[in-house]
Amino acid sequence: MPKSMRCFLVTKRENGVVERRLATVPLDDLPAGEVLVRVQYSSLNYKDALAATGHAGVVSRFPHVPGIDGAGTVVESNSPKFRAGDEVIVTSFELGAARWGAYAEFIRVPAEWVVPLPAGLTLRESMVLGTAGFTAALCVEAIQRQGIGPERGDVVVTGASGGVGSLAVAMLAQAGFRVSAVSGKPAAADLLRRLGAKEILLRETVTDTSGKPLLRAQWAAAIDTVGGTVLSTLLRSMKEQGCVTACGLVGGTELPITVYPFILRGVVLAGIDSAWYPADKRTALWAKLAGLWKPAQLDELSTEVALADLEPKIEDILAGRSVGRTVVKI
Ligand code: NDP
Repeated sequence: MPKSMRCFLVTKRENGVVERRLATVPLDDLPAGEVLVRVQYSSLNYKDALAATGHAGVVSRFPHVPGIDGAGTVVESNSPKFRAGDEVIVTSFELGAARWGAYAEFIRVPAEWVVPLPAGLTLRESMVLGTAGFTAALCVEAIQRQGIGPERGDVVVTGASGGVGSLAVAMLAQAGFRVSAVSGKPAAADLLRRLGAKEILLRETVTDTSGKPLLRAQWAAAIDTVGGTVLSTLLRSMKEQGCVTACGLVGGTELPITVYPFILRGVVLAGIDSAWYPADKRTALWAKLAGLWKPAQLDELSTEVALADLEPKIEDILAGRSVGRTVVKI
């Protein structure tokens, strides 16, 4: 076993300035945990970019290693559930937030956070999906839980060219839904069509600031990664008994809304939290992601970078310029 590891380290100076760089740190600096994993792939999520800037909502202690997604091979395990050599996925909980994450050669984590790599996915593919794919799957599941199928009408996805959005478009289309993809990037239209979107809408179409309590009822369901006025517009534009899943905040954390969509149209607002989704249900959801729900376009959706080349990708995702998924090869 090596005594040290390479990682992407975020530090904070006494004057409050946050810096990030590649560093070599002792392996003993890893937090305690039952399973030590040699990371082969990670990915870049919006939350990772926030962590890289030292955002107080994500990072509580410095130095910090971001990376909320990791896939690799078990090296040591004090848990009977895992043995050295097992290929595993580790996402969610405190990984890359309160705890050091997977932008490093090794992670040490509680066994509860570890999911065996399901048949049907390679380690790399599991990270093209990562937290974004897991979250998109939670959204699709929440819509189906309301009994909404393709016969009920179109489903709209916002932030459609981003990580969660693009995977949600692909999963919904594969499940037979007619998908309207909302994007701020006209250049992403071809990709979204290849993922299965039937209609591409510009962001302004779902940014209603009129203050009207209800808008024309046009969609059966929605997957929203944006929040703010966009989420409010979607809720006011749902058909009877529609369901809006809310997972993101790239467009704002406020929700300007009245109760009318809920009490006059029976609209359901389903909150999605992937981080604390129960550990005992994760293997089943990953099995879906590896099987029926596995998007056919995973390769096309992913760009691969090394840890050393992450910086421009972090800037892109913070500026809303990112398209699809960035896989990080460790
Ligand atoms: P990405 O950056 O990959 O995707 C976000 C997309 O949103 C962008 O590509 C862009 O797509 C659109 N967008 C960006 N800025 C704005 C803006 N100001 N107004 C409207 N749309 C904008 O991020 P992720 O897919 O990783 O995450 C998306 C959101 O979901 C984030 O808020 C993230 O924190 C959240 N999230 C939540 C999870 C949970 O468990 N609740 C888990 C994972 C993510 P386009 O140009 O196509 O419109």
